[in-house]
Amino acid sequence: MARNSKTDKCSFCGEGNLPLFQGADGAFICSDCIETAHKIIQDSIASEAKAEKLDQLSFSNLPKPTDIKKFLDQYVIGQDEAKKYLSVAVYNHYKRLLQPKDDGIEIEKSNIVMVGSTGTGKTLMARTIAKMLSVPFTIVDATVLTEAGYVGEDVESLLVRLLQEANYDVERAEKGIVFIDEIDKIARKSDNPSITRDVSGEGVQQGLLKLLEGSVVNVPPQGGRKHPEQEFIHVNTQNILFICGGAFDGIERKIAQRLNTQVVGFDASLKTQKIDKNDLLKYIAPQDLKSFGLIPEIIGRLPIITYLKPLDREALRNILVQPKNAITKQYQKLLGMDGVQLTFENEALDYIVDKAIEFKLGARGLRSLTETIMMDIMYEVPTKKEQTSFVITRALAEEKIAQADRLKLQNAI
Ligand code: ADP
Repeated sequence: MARNSKTDKCSFCGEGNLPLFQGADGAFICSDCIETAHKIIQDSIASEAKAEKLDQLSFSNLPKPTDIKKFLDQYVIGQDEAKKYLSVAVYNHYKRLLQPKDDGIEIEKSNIVMVGSTGTGKTLMARTIAKMLSVPFTIVDATVLTEAGYVGEDVESLLVRLLQEANYDVERAEKGIVFIDEIDKIARKSDNPSITRDVSGEGVQQGLLKLLEGSVVNVPPQGGRKHPEQEFIHVNTQNILFICGGAFDGIERKIAQRLNTQVVGFDASLKTQKIDKNDLLKYIAPQDLKSFGLIPEIIGRLPIITYLKPLDREALRNILVQPKNAITKQYQKLLGMDGVQLTFENEALDYIVDKAIEFKLGARGLRSLTETIMMDIMYEVPTKKEQTSFVITRALAEEKIAQADRLKLQNAI
């Protein structure tokens, strides 16, 4: 029964201002605590369902690499090579978890690094693959990491989120996948090891190496810094797959340098091979990551390198309409809930793409541009009862973007 007398308080959080429900023994629970409890139960059910799926994993019901890629295709435009690499890596990860141990052959893990400019779909790909996995999966950011003793987080904290995903079931977490975003940010800043300390560079890479190569690490259960008096959770990273992503800004120069020296010096066959100067990333090799500032030991633990292409006009245009949850589909759904059928004219879509390119906003800009165009419409349409359809024309798109502050648009991404 809901009560709200001034003196009654929730027996869980002590709050008295919210609607309270009285139990048989006179205890109260407030609506906030009910919601929190509901969420905990839901999370636990979801996690148990995943655990069950993991228990039922068998070779016959594994999603094949082509199935995984098909799934990615629904959400991510282009980037076929990276999708293929990722699909095989995930499939092999499952196989490694199921491998028979009696023949003396041990399939080792092959961590991956994905290189591609910002906004080309690295994180999207990781998030999408997480939807179909039956192992715990988490995305973490390398930029928060610093060497032990400095402000920031210890490398081990990367595993905290994975533990949370696995509901603190260590055995399950030890089979999980971690996507480390912005790995390029922990590269050594210069090729010459400097006498000043490189708090966020090589020291962090050394720490990360331990996780990548597989060892038992002490994870602080709450994340952040390790304290001597804290109880640690011991996690063996031997079977945890690490997928790293980074923009590696400027790495094309390193690739070009290497290709030039090779052409002149060592590999005469390359002389005859035409190098595509507009897409140097496709020639990426481990030594380029080294020139960029990753230590050789880390590179050795990331044996698979793949790249994401810069998004061209056609890709951006497709991103607007094709993915399962494409931006235009999301706005159509939003207005659909008000009973309004929304359509975008082709010319309006072309204009959004042109502006994203002109403002150098890439795929991230598509959303902020569309949001800018849609804002007034979303404000006004719900109160216009008679309106049942709305067309976004190029003229309307031009008008709304012209009104918008360019700086605001750029800051929105
Ligand atoms: P990053 O490569 O920097 O990790 P993201 O994956 O975060 O880039 O991409 C930013 C946004 O741009 C995504 O949320 C998505 O809306 C869009 N996007 C980028 N690349 C693609 C792509 N290949 N296919 C579909 N959408 C994409």
